[in-house]
Amino acid sequence: MPRDPRYDILFEPVKIGPVVAKNRFFQVPHCNGMGHAKPRSHAAMRAVKAEGGWAVVSTEEVEIHPSSDLSPYVEGRLWDDSDIPFLELMTRAVHQHGALAAIELVHAGMNAANLYSREIPLAPSHITTAANYSPSQARAMSKADIRAYRRWHRQAAVRARRAGFDVIYVYAAHSLSLPMHFLQTRHNHRSDEYGGSLVNRARLLRELIEETKEAVGGDCAVAVRFAVDELRGADGISAAGEGRELVEMLAELPDLWDVNVSDWANDSMTSRFAAEGFQEEFVRFVKSVTSKPVVGVGRFTSPDTMVSQIRRGVLDFIGAARPSIADPFLPRKIENGDIDDIRECIGCNVCVTGDSTMTPIRCTQNPTMGEEWRKGWHPERIPPRSGNDSFLIVGAGPAGLECARLLGRRGYAVHLVEAGAQLGGRVTRESRLPGLTAWARVRDYRVNQLNKMQDVVILRGSAVTAEHILEFGATRVVLATGSRWRRDGVGRANAFAIRGFDLPGRVFAPDDVIDGVGPQGATVVFDDDHYYLGALLAEKLRAGGLEVTLVTPADRVSAWTANTLEQHAIQKHLLELGVTIVTNHNVVEFDGTRATLECTFTGRHTRVSAFSIVPVTSRQPNDTLAETLDAAPDAVAAAGIASVTSIGDCLAPSTIGAAVYAGHRYAREFDWPQSDAAGFTRELPQN
Ligand code: ADP
Ligand code: SF4
Repeated sequence: MPRDPRYDILFEPVKIGPVVAKNRFFQVPHCNGMGHAKPRSHAAMRAVKAEGGWAVVSTEEVEIHPSSDLSPYVEGRLWDDSDIPFLELMTRAVHQHGALAAIELVHAGMNAANLYSREIPLAPSHITTAANYSPSQARAMSKADIRAYRRWHRQAAVRARRAGFDVIYVYAAHSLSLPMHFLQTRHNHRSDEYGGSLVNRARLLRELIEETKEAVGGDCAVAVRFAVDELRGADGISAAGEGRELVEMLAELPDLWDVNVSDWANDSMTSRFAAEGFQEEFVRFVKSVTSKPVVGVGRFTSPDTMVSQIRRGVLDFIGAARPSIADPFLPRKIENGDIDDIRECIGCNVCVTGDSTMTPIRCTQNPTMGEEWRKGWHPERIPPRSGNDSFLIVGAGPAGLECARLLGRRGYAVHLVEAGAQLGGRVTRESRLPGLTAWARVRDYRVNQLNKMQDVVILRGSAVTAEHILEFGATRVVLATGSRWRRDGVGRANAFAIRGFDLPGRVFAPDDVIDGVGPQGATVVFDDDHYYLGALLAEKLRAGGLEVTLVTPADRVSAWTANTLEQHAIQKHLLELGVTIVTNHNVVEFDGTRATLECTFTGRHTRVSAFSIVPVTSRQPNDTLAETLDAAPDAVAAAGIASVTSIGDCLAPSTIGAAVYAGHRYAREFDWPQSDAAGFTRELPQN
């Protein structure tokens, strides 16, 4: 389809200092858990973005010196010349697709605990390090230290140019780098020319920009990434105060302003807490005080919103990390008029967990993310069919839908059969919870793609039995029947059913609550799952007017969401709603009027009023079909079925992203020979 002329403006070239971006799509820096440890994987991932049409493709944070060692987190590294060839892998790959390569040079100051290098962390003033309650302190930088840091930064810029980068960032955002720490009055208590007034606190940033321009400005654009607002009122930088003053002060100095809010949790807010374009109110002043191009982010996935940002003079470039992860081909799809095919980010921040768990990036929507090099997976190119198999997929949750989509793309005949009236499985159910509407995109993207495929037949309202499967005539059977939440309380903290959790009409599974078949009176939500669901059910019940106590054996609500940058916001939200929170306690008994709680440290018992209980503890796979067919191998063979495979939650309950990956993996690999090897190419250490 030809491109809609309304979107032409997104494809105008934009000059950034001495270089030109071919369009307005700018993949801003984002971490990925591969970085310096897996440079081939990293380069291949960035190359796919470039191929997908992003005019500028950036690295993540790149450490410039051993005193900025973020280990065990895996970021980029440019400590000395020996790092250049690894970064060159990326610049070459990005250039092959006509994109510019950008590098975000970072000295993390007090955020780097230097656990590998064993250097002493650096800061504007003597201050405790920010990293994970580390018992070490950062020391106040002397003038000699500041001179040394400026030298390291200049050397890193020169190395970055040698590595082939076109855009070189000076980084003062997210409260994660020295120039920003110098700007913050709460971190900078100096009385010399680098402390006190904003002019003094901005001196270091100004020097770094000037020196980077002197060093590489003839060839490379020098960008500044700056957090114009920390969302902490008078205690921090704000768009109404020093954030604006700083941009005014340095307005024409860099070649590009990349502006956002700080800290990272605020910048990368999930869809549960912020809508597309949510940063506009903070960053819109920037273009009015500088003539330089401005890039900003806001989980942009709608081309109309993008156009509006440009036309209304908010931004010059549509910056994106997550939308480029969920769909590396987003620009290309807009360019080709394939708007319908955009795989929109759902704003779940599973991609962020790659950084916090120090493993390659994963994405709920895009199962190929992080697999570009090690598995050779491409988000748009899929090998054609290798034989004449026909497929029966049972269950149209995320696993079944993705499996059908990919098998259909490969050219196979597929029947996707769903017991319910609706497609989407758990995604459809969970997207009804407060703030999760965007999660339905996991279903909508796939159903939309499937509807275009001639060889994929979707049947709804058909509960499949083992007999049906044997009679059906498909050569391959895929079971994607999902899982159900237990009601008996068994989970991490309780290996056996909790006494009283079998009281009729008083114990409600999460699906009951989602369906509005719900608890009454004082309700205890027992969250031994620790991800998003327990807190969301508590929120829903509280909003419905119930007295709700959330009990968790963890030390905080939704503990795992620290990895998705949401934990603080979730707990704050529940407290504000008036949910009573009891941490470090297990539930050990329910008598119909009270729940008995047990302190995880002392074992001491206390009681709370409870008329109803909602256990969010663990799930049971729906594996009856798998067990029945497994017990009848002769009948399966006689039916001409070559394989019966369980994927997703019916094999082992996990995240939505894991179910999508399982569906994708099956469709790519079902015809591979069996192997005991890892199933992907490993990046091995080498000198
Ligand atoms: P996953 O996350 O693994 O995709 P879900 O629980 O989201 O799992 O989806 C499983 C889907 O399978 C649900 O929509 C459910 O209605 C459907 N399902 C379960 N058992 C059967 C069956 N026997 N026949 C047809 N559909 C089934
Ligand atoms: Fe978006 Fe979630 Fe994918 Fe991250 S993991 S890019 S937030 S869909």
